[in-house]
Amino acid sequence: MVSESDEIVRKAREVLRQAPLCDRCLGRLFASYGIGLTNPERGKALKTLVLMELHREISAGRKDSIEELKIIAENGGPMFKELVSKYVAEPVFKKCSICGGRLDSLIGELAVKAVRELEGVEYSSFIVGVRKGSRIESAEEALASSLGITSWESVRREVKREVGKKIQFFTGRKPDFRSPEVVITIDLDREEVFVQPMPVFYIGSYVKLGRNISQMRWVGRGGRRNYPFSVEESLTKTVPVFEGDSLTFHASGREDADARMLGDGRPLIIEVKNPRKRNVPIPALEKAGSTPPWVYVRLKGRVRREDVTRVKSSTPRKLYLLILYSPEGFTQEDVKKVEEFFRDITIRQKTPERVLRRRADIVRERKVYSVKGRILGRHTAEFMVMCDGGLYVKELAHGDKGRTDPSFSSLLGKEISVLFLDVLEHESVL
Ligand SMILES: [Zn+2]
Repeated sequence: MVSESDEIVRKAREVLRQAPLCDRCLGRLFASYGIGLTNPERGKALKTLVLMELHREISAGRKDSIEELKIIAENGGPMFKELVSKYVAEPVFKKCSICGGRLDSLIGELAVKAVRELEGVEYSSFIVGVRKGSRIESAEEALASSLGITSWESVRREVKREVGKKIQFFTGRKPDFRSPEVVITIDLDREEVFVQPMPVFYIGSYVKLGRNISQMRWVGRGGRRNYPFSVEESLTKTVPVFEGDSLTFHASGREDADARMLGDGRPLIIEVKNPRKRNVPIPALEKAGSTPPWVYVRLKGRVRREDVTRVKSSTPRKLYLLILYSPEGFTQEDVKKVEEFFRDITIRQKTPERVLRRRADIVRERKVYSVKGRILGRHTAEFMVMCDGGLYVKELAHGDKGRTDPSFSSLLGKEISVLFLDVLEHESVL
C-alpha cells in the first residue's frame, strides 16, 4: 500500500521529471501540504526526499534510476550536483520553467521598491495586490493543469503574502484587508510596484454667508458659469494640505445658490483622492477650505467611507427664514392665518418649474411643522418655517402656479414672491 507521504514524493518526482523548477515554484505546487513551511522550504524538502529515494534505488543497482537521476538533476538544480556527478557527469542545470529562477530575488526587490515608493506617504495600514495574467502565473497554471496537480497555491497569493511580510518588517505598518490606507499593486511582468493611497474622509459642515454661491461648481451651456463661486471650490483648497489629487464633496442636501446657509451649517463629508498626508491638523484644513467672509468650513475629524451614505441620505428637519414680497401687501390677519394653518401639515409638491429641466417631474409630500411671521413693511413680511428636509420652501410661499399645494399664496389669495431665503438651522446628523 502506498502511503500519503509516498504519494506526495512520487508526484514531486514525476513533476521534476517533466519540468525544471526552483525550490519555491516546486514548493508552491504542493502548497496544500505542510503547514508552517514556506514554499522554498517545502520545495527543498521534496527535492531532498526525491534525491534520497533515487540514491537508495541506484545503490540497490537499479540502472533506470540513473537515467532518471540525470533528468531530475537538470530540472532540480544544485542539490543533485554531487549525486549526479558521482554516477553520470557534471550536470547542466536548467532554469525554472515557471519563474526562470527570478522569483526568489524578485520578491525582495519588489518589497524594497514598495518601501521606497511609500516614502513620504502617511499611512498606518496597507494591502498588497498582484495584477492578474502575468507570464509566471500563466506558466504555473499550464504546468499544474498538465500534471493534474490540485494542491498548488497561485504565485499571486505567494507574492502578495511574501512581499507583504517584508513591507511589514521594514515599515512596522500592518496589512489591513478590509480598509487599508494604501494599496500596493505589483506588476510581475514589468517588475513594477504602484502605490495608491486610498481616499481620506473628513466630516464637518459648511456655512455660507454670501448669496449667489452654488454648492457645486456649476457651468452652463457654452462654458459660461452660472454662479461666480461655489462651496466646492472653497473646499477644494484643502487638497494641497493633504498633498492629494482632487476632492469630492458629499453634502446632506443642498440649498439654492441664492440662499444663505447659516447656523451650525450644512453637514458634509469631504473625500480627498490620493492623499499623501491624511492626519492633517483640523485648524489648517478649516483655514484652507474657508473663503472669508463668504464660506466657512468646520471639520470634526476623520470618518470612514460608510459614513458618506449616512450623511448624504439624511433629510433632517430644517429651519428657514423667508423674506416675502406681495404687491397687495401683508396684514396682521395674513400672518396669523399662515401661522395657524401651517402647523403639522402635509404639503404636496410637484417638482418646481425652475428645476424641471434637471429633475424628474414627481409629486413629493413633505411636512411643515410650524411657521412664525411678522410684518416688515407695507409689502414685505418675514417668516420662519420649520419643515422636513427636501421641501422646496420658496414654492411653499409663492405656490409655483399651483404646483405646490397648499401654499402661503393659495391660502391668502395673494401674489407672493420670495426676496430672500436663508437656512437658519439644520438638525444635526453629525
Ligand atoms: Zn521558480
